Amino acid sequence: MYWQQAFECMPREDLEQLQLERLQATLYRLGTHVPFYRRRLREAKVDYEAITSLDALRRLPFTTKEDLHGNYPYGLFAVPLRDVVRIHSTSGTAGMTTVVGYTKNAIKNWSDLVARILCGAGVTAEDVVQIAYDYGIFTGGLGLHYGAERLGASVIPISSGNIKRQIRIMRDFKTTALVCTPSHALKLADAMMDMGLNGSELSLKYGIFGAEPWSEAMRREISERLGIIATDNYGLSEVMGPGVAGECLLCNGLHINEDHFLVEILDTATLEPVAAGGIGELVITTLTKEAFPVIRYRTRDLARLLPGICPCGRTFTRMSRILGRSDDMLTIKGVNVFPAQIEAALIDIVGGESPYRIIVDREKNEDTLTVMVEVTELLFSDQIRKQWALADAIQDRLVTDLGVQIHVKLVEEKTLERIDSKGKKVIDNRRL
Ligand SMILES: [Zn+2]
Repeated sequence: MYWQQAFECMPREDLEQLQLERLQATLYRLGTHVPFYRRRLREAKVDYEAITSLDALRRLPFTTKEDLHGNYPYGLFAVPLRDVVRIHSTSGTAGMTTVVGYTKNAIKNWSDLVARILCGAGVTAEDVVQIAYDYGIFTGGLGLHYGAERLGASVIPISSGNIKRQIRIMRDFKTTALVCTPSHALKLADAMMDMGLNGSELSLKYGIFGAEPWSEAMRREISERLGIIATDNYGLSEVMGPGVAGECLLCNGLHINEDHFLVEILDTATLEPVAAGGIGELVITTLTKEAFPVIRYRTRDLARLLPGICPCGRTFTRMSRILGRSDDMLTIKGVNVFPAQIEAALIDIVGGESPYRIIVDREKNEDTLTVMVEVTELLFSDQIRKQWALADAIQDRLVTDLGVQIHVKLVEEKTLERIDSKGKKVIDNRRL
C-alpha cells in the first residue's frame, strides 16, 4: 500500500522541517557549484547560506525553459560529469533541447519515487508490469522501468510500437499492470477489439497512465474497456521525469512527493500565489537532486491543489490533473512539441518564411500531427517531383528534430486562410 510509509505519511510539521533542511542544502549546492544560480541568487539579494524558513521560497528567482536552453548542454549541472551516471534529454534542435543528468544517488531516489507511485496505484512485487512508453532518451520508459524493478515487480520492457505483439504478450505473459500514455491504452483497446479479444481475456488489473493530458471521460472509457483501475501520474524531465506526483487507488487527485519537491501554484500574470484551491501555474523546486537541481521551475502546466486529507493515510498534498498549459506546447504521443520548433525548422529548410499551419488530430485514439505549408514563390517549382522531394525533406527534418511522426503537406497559396481565417498557427482538433 505504501512504499516508504515513514515519508508518505509523515506529520506535516516534520515534513516542513525536512523540506527546509533539504531546501537549504539545495540552495547551498546551487550557490556554490552553479555560476548561473550564484548570479541569479545574488541579483535577487538572497543569501543562500542564511535561509531559515520555507517562506524564503517566495523570494527565490524563477527558472524557465529558456534558462535551461541557454545553458545547453551541461551549464546547470551541479556536479562534475564523472559523478553523472545517466543523461536524458527532451526533443528539439540544439538551441531548444534540455539536457538533464542524474547521479547514482539520484537514480536511486528516482526509482523509489516511481515505486511509490506504482505502489499507490495498486502495483506490488507480485505484479507483471508491461511498460509501453518509448524507451530511450526520454525519461518515461526508463524512469518507470527502474521504479517497477525497485518495487520488485516483473517488468516487461515492451516499449511502444507493434501493437498486436503488445497485446499477445499482455495476454500470454499474464500482464497485470499496464504503464503507458492514456491514448496508447485506448489504442490497445481498439486493437484488441480488432483481434476479437476483450478485457476479460486478459489478466490486467491496473493501468498507470501519464505523460499527456487526459480527462475523466477517458478514464471511464479505459477502465471499462480494459477492466482496470486507471490512475493518473505526473512528472517532467526538467524536474526529474515520472515520479513527481501520482494518484492512489482512490483516484481523487495526485499526491505530490513533497519530501522531494516543493510545489507552488502561481497566478500566471502576477506570479503570486493563487487563492487556496485556485488554478494556476505549477512551479516546482527540487529538494534532493544532486546533478540537476532546479529552483522554482516554471512548468507552464496549469493545475490546482486539492483541499483536505486523503483517506488513504498519505499526508502529501494532492494536485488536480493537469488542466492545460500557459504556453502553446502540444503533447503528441507523450512527446512535447513546441510550435516554435516547427517554425524554426521550416525557416531553416525553406530559407525564409512560408505560411504554415500545425494541425493536431486524434484518429482511432492515435494523435496525428500534420504541418501544412503553403507553396509560395520561395517554394514554387513546376516539377511536381521537386515539390515532393521538398515535402519529404521538411518531414525528415521535423521528425528528426521533434522525435515524433509528422506529416507534411504542401498546399496552394491562400489555402491556409480558408482553414482558419483568424490566422491561428495551431489547430488542435483533439477533444481531451
Ligand atoms: Zn490517497
